[in-house]
Amino acid sequence: MLERLIKTYMGTRQPVYSICWQGGEPALMGTNFFLKVIELQKKHGTAKARINNSVQTNATLITERMAQLFARYKFLVGCSLDGPEKIHNKYRVTTKGNGTHKEAIKGIEILKRYNVQFNILTLVSQANVDNAHEIYHYLKNMGFYFHQYIPCVEFDKNKNLLPFSIKAEQWGRFMCNLFDSWYPNDIFSVSVRNFDSILSKKIDGINDICVMGKNCCQYFVVEYNGDIYPCDFFVEKQLKLGNIMETSWEEMLDSPAYVKFGAQKKLWNEKCSTCDHLELCAGDCLKNRMYAQNLPQNISCLCPGLKTFFNHTRHRSDILCETIQNLRTKEQKMIDKIPKSGRNDPCFCGSGIKFKKCCGK
Ligand code: SF4
Ligand code: SF4
Repeated sequence: MLERLIKTYMGTRQPVYSICWQGGEPALMGTNFFLKVIELQKKHGTAKARINNSVQTNATLITERMAQLFARYKFLVGCSLDGPEKIHNKYRVTTKGNGTHKEAIKGIEILKRYNVQFNILTLVSQANVDNAHEIYHYLKNMGFYFHQYIPCVEFDKNKNLLPFSIKAEQWGRFMCNLFDSWYPNDIFSVSVRNFDSILSKKIDGINDICVMGKNCCQYFVVEYNGDIYPCDFFVEKQLKLGNIMETSWEEMLDSPAYVKFGAQKKLWNEKCSTCDHLELCAGDCLKNRMYAQNLPQNISCLCPGLKTFFNHTRHRSDILCETIQNLRTKEQKMIDKIPKSGRNDPCFCGSGIKFKKCCGK
C-alpha cells in the first residue's frame, strides 16, 4: 500500500511533492519505515523531483537513528508541546496516566543535536488558554524558535463543545496576549506561524495555511487502510473519496464529493461577507462552522475571538508589513548592485576585496 501510494503520487506532476506523515503517532512505525519511504521515493521519483517530507509527532519516541535519518533527508518535524511540564502533562499522558513532558523534551533535544528542522505545535485547550505569555517565553527560553498554536475545538456527537475545548473569547484573549509577548522584541527572531501567515497573505497574497483559503480542496488524507478523505477533520464515511489501491488521484481530484466539499468553505455566514477581516479569516475553518446541522453557513464558533485578535493586532501587523516591504526594497537595491559579471571585480560593498571572496561568497 505504501509503495502504491508513493508510486502513484510520484507519477503525478508536482513542483514539489509534499507528504506529511501523521498518526496517531507516526514515530511508532520506527526508523525502518521512514527508510523504506525514502527508498520508494527514490525508486519512483524522477531525478529532479523535489520532495518535502514532514512528520507530526509527540516526540516521545524519537531516537538518535531516526533523527539522523530526518536530518539527512531534511524532514521537517512538528513536535507537539503544550507548554511547561505542569501544563503539558494535564492532558498529554500515557495510558497509565503518567505525564509525557520529559520524554517529549528528550526527543526534541535529540532532534536539536542532529540539526533536524523542527517546529513546536501547541494545542491551546483549557489546560493552557490562560497562559499565553508563560508558554511563549517558556518555548523561546528553551531555544525553540518556530511556533504554531492551534485552538482545541471539539464537539460531541450532539454538537456540544467538549469540556477541554476553548471558547471564542478565550482564543481571542490568548492570541492577543501571544502577539503582545512576541511583537516588542522577537519579530525577526521567533517565527509564529499564525502571524507569519497573516503577513504572507497581506504582503504577497499567499495563503500559507488552508484556513485562509476560499476553498477546502487543499490536500488528501490517506488512512492506514488506503481510504482517502478530503481533510483530517472530516474523516467521515460519507466523505470517503476512494481507496489508494483502486482509485486514481485524478478521479479523486475531479470527484463531485471532493469538489463539493471544497466549495463549502466559501458558503460562509452572511455576517462574514461584510466583515472587515474576511480576507484574512475567510469565514474560518469548516470544522469550527459545521456544528449545527452540519451547515457551512454557521458562523464560526471562534468568531468573536477572531475579531478581537484581528482588531487588536491590525495596526501593528500593518506596520510590520511596511517594515518588511522596506527591507525588501533595500535588499533588492543591494542585489541590483551586484555586478552581473566580474567575480574578480572589487566588491560593491566597498571592502576592497574581490567580489567572489567578499559578498559573493
Ligand atoms: S476544513 Fe479546515 S482544516 Fe480542512 S481544509 Fe478546510 S480550512 Fe483546512
Ligand atoms: S471574523 Fe467572524 S465574521 Fe469575520 S470573517 Fe471571520 S468568522 Fe466571519
